[in-house]
Amino acid sequence: MFAIRAAHAFDGNRFLPGGATVVVAGDRIVDVDTDRVDLPADVDVAEYDGTVLPGLIDCHTHLVADCTVGGLERTAAMTDGEIDAIIIASLRAHAAAGATTVRDLGDIRYRTLGFRDAPGLPRVVASGPPVTTPGGHCHFLGGAVGGVLDADLRSAVRERAERGVDVIKVMASGGFATPGSDQLGAQFTAAELTVLVEEAHRVGLPLVAHAHSLVAMENAVAAGADGIEHFTGLSSAHGSRIDDDLLDEVARRGVYVDLTMGNDRSFHALMPTPPPPLAELMARFGVSSFDEFYAARIAELARLREHAVRVITGVDSGMAPPKRHGNVWRTVGEMVEGGYSTADALAAATSASAQACGLAGETGRLAPGHAADVLVVDGDVSRDTSTLGSPRAILVRGIPVQRETSG
Ligand SMILES: [Zn+2]
Repeated sequence: MFAIRAAHAFDGNRFLPGGATVVVAGDRIVDVDTDRVDLPADVDVAEYDGTVLPGLIDCHTHLVADCTVGGLERTAAMTDGEIDAIIIASLRAHAAAGATTVRDLGDIRYRTLGFRDAPGLPRVVASGPPVTTPGGHCHFLGGAVGGVLDADLRSAVRERAERGVDVIKVMASGGFATPGSDQLGAQFTAAELTVLVEEAHRVGLPLVAHAHSLVAMENAVAAGADGIEHFTGLSSAHGSRIDDDLLDEVARRGVYVDLTMGNDRSFHALMPTPPPPLAELMARFGVSSFDEFYAARIAELARLREHAVRVITGVDSGMAPPKRHGNVWRTVGEMVEGGYSTADALAAATSASAQACGLAGETGRLAPGHAADVLVVDGDVSRDTSTLGSPRAILVRGIPVQRETSG
């Protein structure tokens, strides 16, 4: 048994005035005290003047992708051993940045499933290869359905369930990592998505839809998808535009929305021209600079907040240099820029994301009985979320993370 005492604390839902002592036994939190209690003499206490909080959750990663443009596609030509090496490096980068759970929404050959319970590495919630259309978005991951008959769609879900996935991911629209895919239209009709959702729910799995286009978002909502990724609102007529009615319906149905932000903006400041996928996305938005694109996404966050949509935090990490594994802490600052309180933004990155991942009661909170997924960062996060980028200590299911670099 050992304990972490910090001057400031966030428990997954709220800040605890005066900080807290988190007592850990094995892989569990056994106590969270806000008073300075006397612990047994044999309990080691590590004291910090920073903030203790639950480990963060990246709800959209591609562990097999190495943060280069085109890296996801290149996995198709790699051996399993090469892919596994990338997965391990990705998980280490997440852990070193305080992400103790990641949801992988697109791998190849189900490689990530073998790393779900690796000691000292983040917990992995895995989708396997996304369901897509022949030649459609990320078809190179091997998840295309042969046809769009009910039986084909149902067997695509059942195959993944038999492999043991935790979530079904479907590419409801095209995407920017797949040139030539239909980014402004739909890869599946609402009726087809409904079949996928029904079958996923029948086998006890949630379904999340990748949707850049407005029509794919509408189809996913109508089909009863549990979550929508990107939520970009693109159409050929309007660039990005999402009506109030759709936001209200998404909120009413309790759909989890992940804008996949967490961008390292310093990277963009240094880059004279954005890489082709981002340039294309910005062109669809009708903006010419990353700052304008970023401002539009922050404005969208503000609207999600006004409409009480359940927002969770994901990065699409691994897909490009600004979307590194371990960037999810940056989404907290972006939400604050969008008008969220720091507590609400942190709750999105911890307890709400845990709930979206089916892990409520397991992680995302500093509470007795929960896994000892614990992050300690410099300073008082309630005053400055950038301190999330300065981790002091990290526990993944009770195991301290060894960070390769200091400071
Ligand atoms: Zn993705």
